[in-house]
Amino acid sequence: MNLKQVLKQIGRPAPVEKYLCHTFPDIISPAGLAEYQKESLRAIIERAYEHSPFYREKMTRAGVTPGEVVGLDLGRLPFTTKDELRGKPWVLLACEREDVSLIQVSTGTTGGEEIYIMNTWEDYYLREMATGYPVLVPIEPGDICLNALPYEMSSAGLAFHKTFMDSCQATVIPAGKGGAYSTPAKTVKLMRELQPTVAITSPSWAVTLHEAAVERAFDVAGLPLKRMWLTGEGCSPAFRERVEKIWGTVANFYYGSLECGAIGIECDAHNGYHLAGAHVFVEIVDQESGEVLEPGEIGEIVVTCLLRYDTPLLRYRTQDLGFIEPDPCRCGVALPRLHLRGRLTEQVVIQGVSFSPFYLEEFLMRIPEVGNWFQFVVNPAGSDVLRIRAEPAAGVSPSAELADTLASKMEFATGLSCGFEFVAKLPRPHGKTVRVVHQ
Ligand SMILES: [Zn+2]
Repeated sequence: MNLKQVLKQIGRPAPVEKYLCHTFPDIISPAGLAEYQKESLRAIIERAYEHSPFYREKMTRAGVTPGEVVGLDLGRLPFTTKDELRGKPWVLLACEREDVSLIQVSTGTTGGEEIYIMNTWEDYYLREMATGYPVLVPIEPGDICLNALPYEMSSAGLAFHKTFMDSCQATVIPAGKGGAYSTPAKTVKLMRELQPTVAITSPSWAVTLHEAAVERAFDVAGLPLKRMWLTGEGCSPAFRERVEKIWGTVANFYYGSLECGAIGIECDAHNGYHLAGAHVFVEIVDQESGEVLEPGEIGEIVVTCLLRYDTPLLRYRTQDLGFIEPDPCRCGVALPRLHLRGRLTEQVVIQGVSFSPFYLEEFLMRIPEVGNWFQFVVNPAGSDVLRIRAEPAAGVSPSAELADTLASKMEFATGLSCGFEFVAKLPRPHGKTVRVVHQ
């Protein structure tokens, strides 16, 4: 049986068949997107209620049935939280265990028991095959994609592998990120010999690979890269500019997670993430009251997955903060944009005020004497002083005077009391980069 026959035999849920098999989601009209999302939500909420004991119980407790959820207003549906998923591998199943074909697990960087996300073959593969975003992700047959994201345990590496190979029909190099065979040295060798045209990695691994390339006298800026994507951890615009400069190409961010999959994709305008409207329906809610907020208002990002029927995820509280901007973008893509404002759990508290580490990083990374590796050292109970530890930039001689000057610069920029300390070399992260350390 060939793939076409398989697709025909398995079939797709009606909204997927109707909207995604013949149109491109990133040029779909706002009205078309709303219709697709309404029909998808109805189908997924019904499926969750009928087949998932977890959601049936939650909805019963909240006194709501699927028929009472109308259109895009999910206000009556209960939220799903990270704590409800932790340590409960099978909790989201709306299918038989034997139907599960892939099990992935959280990286554990936010603490607590693991979260498991499972997919059936139909959800993971077939339902998503037609849903590329060709304007936002212009990767074509003939492109060679260096995939320097972790492949094991979690979802990032495999998810992009699937997108590049199946949706874009491009060539993928599964370089990985820090796995058993995946050393920076070997990745540099692959780049030298295979000359990728696209790269995807995390911001900090982009710097690690560049350092390894410099040690081997290889200039990554000489690669025929038409674009790179950064994901897996956030960074400030100033850090992104540093990555773009050393790699000699445009770097766009991609926002997603194990639990939700694709959420937002940045265009070349670098002004927010276009919501991956075929994959997710996104709400912004008040952290305290849970009320849905208006466009432009900052709150917690809440996601409902639109392509997962067998392990549905409804109104998932991501603990990330952001706001939605519905205005048209100059790139021409009609999908609304999401602006991220950091993570609830990763704020730096100085003098009783919370700051996103990326806000502070932005000022730090504009100082040319500061290298690409740094830490903000804070007290868990809150600090009076923002203490910064950083490597000097290449060619800069560290001194106590220079450290004082940089502390003053940061004080001027942030309005906070700052301490600055040069260190010769900070440990290179194996997993996600830690910019905020508690002491
Ligand atoms: Zn755009």
